[in-house]
Amino acid sequence: MERTRRIVIIGAGIGGMAAAGALRQRGFEVAVYERAPELGEVGAGLQLGPNAVKVLAGLGIADRLRPLAAEPRDILSLAWDDAHLRYREPLRDISAERYGASYLTAHRADLHRLLQALVPDSSIHLNARCEGVAISGRSAVARFADGREVEADVIIGADGIHSAVRNSLFGESKARFTQQIAWRAMIPVSEVPSRVGPGGSVALDPQDYAGWIGPNGHVICYPIRGGEIYNLFIGHVSEEWVEESWTAPSTVAEILEAHSGWNEALLDMLSKVSNVYKWGIYDRDPLPYWSSGPVTLVGDSAHPMMPTLAQGAAITLEDSYAVARHLDRGRDDIHAALKAYEAERQPRASRVQLQARTQFENNRKSPAPPPLSRDWIFEHDARQEPVAA
Ligand SMILES: Cc1cc2nc3c(=O)[nH]c(=O)nc-3n(C[C@H](O)[C@H](O)[C@H](O)COP(=O)(O)OP(=O)(O)OC[C@H]3O[C@@H](n4cnc5c(N)ncnc54)[C@H](O)[C@@H]3O)c2cc1C
Repeated sequence: MERTRRIVIIGAGIGGMAAAGALRQRGFEVAVYERAPELGEVGAGLQLGPNAVKVLAGLGIADRLRPLAAEPRDILSLAWDDAHLRYREPLRDISAERYGASYLTAHRADLHRLLQALVPDSSIHLNARCEGVAISGRSAVARFADGREVEADVIIGADGIHSAVRNSLFGESKARFTQQIAWRAMIPVSEVPSRVGPGGSVALDPQDYAGWIGPNGHVICYPIRGGEIYNLFIGHVSEEWVEESWTAPSTVAEILEAHSGWNEALLDMLSKVSNVYKWGIYDRDPLPYWSSGPVTLVGDSAHPMMPTLAQGAAITLEDSYAVARHLDRGRDDIHAALKAYEAERQPRASRVQLQARTQFENNRKSPAPPPLSRDWIFEHDARQEPVAA
């Protein structure tokens, strides 16, 4: 009789919980180890492109997320100073037909709660900081800060950009400060001005996605929570990041100072935000390998990327689904299954990682060239086996 494989996942973020959910769907026994004392996500919005929404459908939670999320109608690009309309494109009407799923925007905590519901509490171990993994024959052992050691048939590192699992497999290396910082904040949709631009020529509907594009940054706005909250991602080019942590408390005054000279209506919106935090944005060069024997990586542990394409979590969700698909099909030889997973995922994730950097550089050019196409990203369906070329 075939023995149930025991799979350990390090990290209970979006990647770890999605991988646990996808593996449980296929009958695997999964244990998740998370360093934090409780589960949760930062209070911020998240764009879920159609490629991410297809994975959520595969996990059976897309329809449960929909009422908690929003589906922006159009994409508007506005100039940072006079708010003239640079371009407007439909999103809601074309997304399902062109890419096979909706483009949703959601609160990260809402998505995380739905993923968490796929995994029983008894399979999630909190206060468990992994310090490294070691491969021993056909299995692997995870070591924890409290001295515990856990052996498994497979270990999946889903422990983010500073991954201890990646360090064990491939050595330590520093993440790259991308010269971008970001504030994340929310306001009620009632605070969004209805008209902006020269002579009030642009109708600003909070159910649209609006990007204010300036020389040293951009402010991305979209609805979440059934369209009742307006999420703001405020990205700013900055040569320096002095805080040691990536997340630091900030103030409205600091945001306004960084946007001196920007459009008055935008500044008025920014002055309404509260509980402000800022992030230093870090990424890494593509990693050529993700797996060694029974150990592999998903998400930011393998491919932390700039948020320019809003694809970090989406590619993470794709990884999580794909690793479960490969382990299911390759039960007889799980090391080969993990290599096949890497071969499928590494080229795609690396290409997205690099396009996120190029798009960031293009956004800084004046005039900025048209955005690089994301069609090839959105069209992908990680539920399907890749078609051989
Ligand atoms: C400002 C900003 C905006 C973004 N916007 C978007 C967006 O709109 N759309 C999108 O798709 N992506 C977006 N992203 C990217 C997205 O947030 C990440 O790609 C995604 O969260 C990665 O998920 P993950 O599970 O791999 O890692 P993480 O979310 O970092 O989760 C890792 C988990 O592992 C735990 N952990 C870490 N180390 C250990 C350890 N040693 N032992 C045990 N547990 C450990 C952590 O506590 C955490 O719970 C954005 C990122 C930033 C910074």
